Amino acid sequence: MSLPEYATVYNNFDAAALEAEILDGRLDSGLNVCHEICDKWATDPQRVALYYEKEGGGDGTLTFAELKEKSARFANYLKSRGIGKGDRVAGLLPRSPELLVVIAGALRAGAVYQPLFTAFGSGAIEYRLERADTKLVVTDPVNYPKLNDVKNCPPVLCLAAQQAGSDIPDFEQTLAEQSAEFEPVMVKGTDPFLQMFTSGTVGKAKGVAVPARALMAFYVYMKYAIDLRDDDTYWNVADPGWAYGLYYAVVGPLLMGHATHFNPGAFTPESTYDMIRKYKITNLAAAPTAYRLLKANDHVLPEGENLGLRVASSAGEPLNPEVVNWIRNRHYCPVKDHYGQTETGMTCCNFHGLEHPVRQGSMGYSSPGHKVVALNEKNEEVGEGEIGQLAVDVKASPLFHFDGYTWGEKDPFVNGYYLTGDMVICHGDGGFSFSGRDDDIITTAGYRVGPADVESTLLEHAAVAESGVVGKPDEKRGSIIKAYVVIKSGQEPSEDQALKDELQELVRRRLSTHAYPREIEFVDELPKTPSGKIQRFVLRNRAKDEAGA
Ligand code: ATP
Ligand code: MG
Repeated sequence: MSLPEYATVYNNFDAAALEAEILDGRLDSGLNVCHEICDKWATDPQRVALYYEKEGGGDGTLTFAELKEKSARFANYLKSRGIGKGDRVAGLLPRSPELLVVIAGALRAGAVYQPLFTAFGSGAIEYRLERADTKLVVTDPVNYPKLNDVKNCPPVLCLAAQQAGSDIPDFEQTLAEQSAEFEPVMVKGTDPFLQMFTSGTVGKAKGVAVPARALMAFYVYMKYAIDLRDDDTYWNVADPGWAYGLYYAVVGPLLMGHATHFNPGAFTPESTYDMIRKYKITNLAAAPTAYRLLKANDHVLPEGENLGLRVASSAGEPLNPEVVNWIRNRHYCPVKDHYGQTETGMTCCNFHGLEHPVRQGSMGYSSPGHKVVALNEKNEEVGEGEIGQLAVDVKASPLFHFDGYTWGEKDPFVNGYYLTGDMVICHGDGGFSFSGRDDDIITTAGYRVGPADVESTLLEHAAVAESGVVGKPDEKRGSIIKAYVVIKSGQEPSEDQALKDELQELVRRRLSTHAYPREIEFVDELPKTPSGKIQRFVLRNRAKDEAGA
């Protein structure tokens, strides 16, 4: 199979030339990330960095020039508190202009920005602040009370502080007292600029420090996979409390001098469509859970309305083919699946910006600057049609930037490969399809079945909103496949057994006889991470309990 444009770009990728082009070749000599994502574009006073909707109504904009000024004030405040290079500064903030100011200001001071998702409770916040030895938290009156329960909480700055309590330092007032001039602090490409934690889908979240050289990989993703064009209006729905939102709703677009968009509040199909209509979004990015919710609420979009989307992108979980078809039919645009991790950013994608064949249900090909492969248990590359663990060949990946977990986790590097913990089917032409997380793969009667295929097949049934598929211990077969299924509202069957039979038959017919769920249970909701990923280990434990194992 020839991969015309993709192959040309991939094979001729030159990291040094890219560094020269976008970062003036300064990864070794020193650069400032805030300069790259803000100051560089602030010479045009009209250039907008952020369009935002306000909580409770109204909207606003923040220009790069305003962001430059405010971030300098915040950087001066950090300096006055002795906070600088390498120190962690956390934002526990909703999607708001202040959030951008805190990110940009921390980076201007050479500090490391640490996101805290606003849905976190005090335990999750404490865990992350303690591990990162965070020096300051910026929050708002809604989230402030959670910090009262955090042991050894670092100093706090609060937006509209008088609403949270009279003795708390106010963010706006503090900034107003600072000078608007601040000389950016230089960092090296190997120095961290973001302090992340993984999503905690299979257990405790792992600490990941992202070095400044990751800007190169972010740029490549925005350019080739998202295909962000000058005339695009781009909205990544993901919250910057997570890697997908912080890397590609904030850093990525701003690095290209592009405006980003924030809407407030939790995800709803109605507010999502309102936002797309109002800002004439052409380039959309969101997690599969968001797309699944749009599809399950199909009635919200008037029949025949074309929102004018040019392209859509998805990442974080498998993108079910049924959702792909729905978006093509209802939104008249292609949606492409991208694979990545907090640790590495996006490494395997279907590229909107590069011509190549797209296989149904596949997560695509290695990103330019990365080489991903699938390995067997002996860490040898597997052949076409085989399942293996997805790994990054570090030496062959000049844009690979993960150095290992910050706090005492198992070493994910073996023989020059970084092991992702995800199982994929190798297509032999450089393409891969996601099968499941290592722990999620089910062995039933000697066959290995990935939950992704079974879940995608169940989704083809009109009554299914989503499902989680796991192995349930079974004496005869080792495990049987069990599906926990959420039914679309208004579609509850009059008789459960008839629907179960239909679903089993569907998987038998569409996928294979050995992969059908012998047991189906209808549930109101699935256990998910705060970022919306299905936690199959919770379902697996439930199934184990049910089996009495
Ligand atoms: P933790 O590592 O703490 O258990 P997590 O792995 O979910 O959480 P993230 O870094 O947010 O944390 O997510 C990366 C993982 O998400 C990948 O390892 C993979 O399992 C899954 N993932 C990401 N993109 C895709 C995709 N396109 N298709 C299938 N799975 C994906
Ligand atoms: Mg992970």
